[in-house]
Amino acid sequence: MSKNLTSRAEDYSKWYNELVVKADLAENSAVRGCMVIKPYGYAIWEKMQAELDRMFKETGHENAYFPLFVPKSLFEAEEKNAEGFAKECAIVTHYRLQNDPENPGKLRVDPEAKLEEELIVRPTSEAIIWNTYKGWIQSYRDLPLLINQWANVVRWEMRTRLFLRTAEFLWQEGHTAHETKAEAIKEAELMNNVYATFAENFMAIPVVKGVKTESERFAGAVETYCIEALMQDGKALQAGTSHFLGQNFAKAFDVKFTSKEGKQDYVWATSWGVSTRLMGALIMTHSDDKGLVLPPNLAPNQVVIVPIYKTDEQLEEITKLANLMMSDLNAKHISVKFDSRTTLRPGAKFAQHELQGVPLRIAIGPKDLEHGTVELARRDTLTKEVIALDTLTSTVEGLMIEIQNSLYKKALEFRDSHITLVDSFDDFKTVLETKGGFISAHWDGTAETEAKIKELTKATIRCIPIDEIAENGTCVYTGKPSKGRVLFAKAY
Ligand code: AMP
Repeated sequence: MSKNLTSRAEDYSKWYNELVVKADLAENSAVRGCMVIKPYGYAIWEKMQAELDRMFKETGHENAYFPLFVPKSLFEAEEKNAEGFAKECAIVTHYRLQNDPENPGKLRVDPEAKLEEELIVRPTSEAIIWNTYKGWIQSYRDLPLLINQWANVVRWEMRTRLFLRTAEFLWQEGHTAHETKAEAIKEAELMNNVYATFAENFMAIPVVKGVKTESERFAGAVETYCIEALMQDGKALQAGTSHFLGQNFAKAFDVKFTSKEGKQDYVWATSWGVSTRLMGALIMTHSDDKGLVLPPNLAPNQVVIVPIYKTDEQLEEITKLANLMMSDLNAKHISVKFDSRTTLRPGAKFAQHELQGVPLRIAIGPKDLEHGTVELARRDTLTKEVIALDTLTSTVEGLMIEIQNSLYKKALEFRDSHITLVDSFDDFKTVLETKGGFISAHWDGTAETEAKIKELTKATIRCIPIDEIAENGTCVYTGKPSKGRVLFAKAY
């Protein structure tokens, strides 16, 4: 395992890329823009999935699965959605290869095997799902329809970064159908709240809940709710989105229902998603120059035990003790790994577990055996303490909660100290260049001003915060009247 990660101060972007690879989370693949998620990274993603899945089911949703391909005629049915995604689609045109007569040993597309209708590799699944819902929904009794799917999608992104923006990514997409507009809006808000709760309680990432401006809205949505997080380099990251789709897809796919009163109406829709981008958010929120820092809720191993020994007898004794400790900790649902590898010295093991962000390390040496103690080392604070063996389980239990909470608190303090209220465009530019973070400023509500500010500063409106108090002011760029502040930032 190589050491010496580039520091965040030296080159944040390089630090991130190195960390993802060195901590064994993911690597680039032979396919441009597509990544290989390695077992350690995938184990973290599985923890996210498990908790989100639990939360979706708790709020009444069921899982299903729809095809990877969308026939072009279905893809283009909802015009705005099609137009929005058209520029980043992968398209299947043929279904067979043949030997290339001009290049022995090579294959070529069989010109005879052209598909009658091209297939789009789903960049999102509204089209194929709403085409299916048409057959599932006839009456109010079929509603609400609350479905989620875990899947991969493909968006032909030009500039990709491991986890943050890849051409193929893993995600979940919820697609729901409702009788009324109010009910669909409530659902879109509920799922944005589920995402916020998940980010904060489970990932220890504070987020701002808001709605997107029209230019940043999902193609085909009436309203896009979002959660926005702030990374340590002062850039924002869209961590999740939940869309109120109005009747746009119901109209495009002719999905009507008969109401209790016997009237026919189009159904109301939502869709919502979070992706493997959350892995990027996790890394960029908590990690440091020594490597990954994982909140206990997401750590594949919450605790690692490293034996320090000279003789085989010592190792044997430590192993016995470690087994007892593990069964006690496992009984409290704490996951523990005993790192008994004989091929690595303790120092190298320490470095690896530090790099991979194991929240708590327990070291046991001959002196500990003698005194009935162990040494605990916290990954988040890098502090160590020696404790009596008989208090181990309760201490570790307490520390899991303490580390989880303290990571959230630290991230919250950083985020809150990086929301700057700004009232002039000069200050806007200065704060953006010197401090970064979210800039809370008045905006005149027009797409032109938003675009102009983006062009001049690269900052975009991340969201109109939901909890924002109404406040009359004047636009930071045009001086025109504004009814409330919005959050600007440079973003991933
Ligand atoms: P959307 O369908 O555009 O609302 O996106 C749903 C979720 O996927 C959001 O949380 C996005 O931040 C995330 N996302 C969008 N594009 C990518 C990408 N290329 N790689 C990873 N995550 C993405």
